[in-house]
Amino acid sequence: MDWYNPSDTDIPKGHFIDGRFMSFNDDTSVDVICPSTGQAYAALNYASPDTVEFAVSQAYQAYRTNSWASMAPRERAKYLFQWAELIEKHQASLAQLESLGSSRPYHEVLQWDIPYVVDCLRFFAELADKHGGYVGATQQDRLGMVISQPYGVIGAITPWNFPMSMLMWKVGPALAAGNAVVLKPSEMTPFTSVYLAKLAVDAGIPANQFNVVQGDGKTVGQAICEHSLIGKVTFTGSTATGAAIMSTCALKGPKPSTLELGGKSPQVVFADADIDKTALTVAKAITGNAGQVCVSGSRLIIHQDIAETFSQKVLSHFSQLRMGPTWNKSTTLPPIISAGQAQRINSIVNQSIAQGAERLCGGELINDGGSFFTPTLLAITDNNNCAVQQEIFGPVLTMQTFDSDEQAWALASHETYGLAAGIHTQNLQRALTGMRQIEAGSVWINRYGRSFDHIMPTGGFKQSGIGKDIGVEAFQANLKTKSVLIDF
Ligand code: ADP
Repeated sequence: MDWYNPSDTDIPKGHFIDGRFMSFNDDTSVDVICPSTGQAYAALNYASPDTVEFAVSQAYQAYRTNSWASMAPRERAKYLFQWAELIEKHQASLAQLESLGSSRPYHEVLQWDIPYVVDCLRFFAELADKHGGYVGATQQDRLGMVISQPYGVIGAITPWNFPMSMLMWKVGPALAAGNAVVLKPSEMTPFTSVYLAKLAVDAGIPANQFNVVQGDGKTVGQAICEHSLIGKVTFTGSTATGAAIMSTCALKGPKPSTLELGGKSPQVVFADADIDKTALTVAKAITGNAGQVCVSGSRLIIHQDIAETFSQKVLSHFSQLRMGPTWNKSTTLPPIISAGQAQRINSIVNQSIAQGAERLCGGELINDGGSFFTPTLLAITDNNNCAVQQEIFGPVLTMQTFDSDEQAWALASHETYGLAAGIHTQNLQRALTGMRQIEAGSVWINRYGRSFDHIMPTGGFKQSGIGKDIGVEAFQANLKTKSVLIDF
């Protein structure tokens, strides 16, 4: 049974600039593949350099001349709230478009992604008038004020794993703070972004305040980062691409960037944890969106006394997952985004086994139209094994055992990444010690994953990123400060 018929989906065409859908003669047309079937389902216009130039200059003009940045912040918030309402109204079509083009199952988009996007937008709208500067301790015969103002045009580059949620992480705070935005979504999941941009205009947000240009990273994404009228870049994606973007921002500016990058997050489970609840949490944290989540809990670090019992429970949860297209009602394990990505997962798993990992289940690449990967558990003793060291971005969990707290914390820390970590124990002292020890931007104790508490910023340490998304910090990151001195 299907939630909808995929061939009945309306696909928006073109970029979204100047408050409307636009295509240009010198755009290149490229097929977009549906991850569930492996077939092309639509064509995407890749922007030419002229199109990028047009989108950015329109956004800059809008920033300079529109009422948006200068309007009373509560008024700005009103339009953002109207946008949130429209997103809710269009949730069924948005969910269909999102699930057709990505690995997000339809019912999960409706139950999780849309409420998350809407709530996140409302959180940032509420912040629009909840900030200010300060008066400095200057000499008595002058007044020194530190005020904040928007950057101007924010360049936003987003990945394919949660297309609408990642968009709102960037666009919500940028608009709430008074900026204009030029967004380039992933070329693999491009269509819900222009739909959302159209709804923004329908909600009364001025044209060109939020423009979307379509295309690949190396040309279109790069051109956005290079553009002199882009005041700041915000990005979520791989560490390698984040580094490339930071280097472009350094050379073509310099301009600041916020980067939310890769992870290899540990789930540390002690013998005193609630075993049943934790096994389910651990299984979900690596199989949700088929493991294609930056904060996937991909390294199980478990006390040796419970490793056998615990891993059996995780395997039992794995075995209940059903692969299928995102629109099928029984699907609980969605496809891998592309055949190439599935091949990459497969080759790391094979290499890991060749390096001594014991495969406790899974490890199978299944091509059934789309590419699927069976949930995999690898028992590993060598911390240098490639499955422990590399981000896999698939449903592959490594398991390492410890017999002392010190050993647990040592294994939990990762040479490269520091995005998130889970600690599972009934012992408060142990949990809080681990919380301090582990080098990660988010630590979850007796739970795993983000919540709707948008007040909690997210972002990585080490090569997992720079700066924060969500939270008040993400809002403030869209403002720059200016010092003003007035002589009496
Ligand atoms: P993936 O390869 O898995 O899609 P990336 O991190 O490379 O992950 O992509 C995330 C986003 O970054 C996408 O929108 C992609 O088009 C964009 N991108 C890729 N390379 C660059 C680049 N050099 N400059 C700017 N954006 C890029």
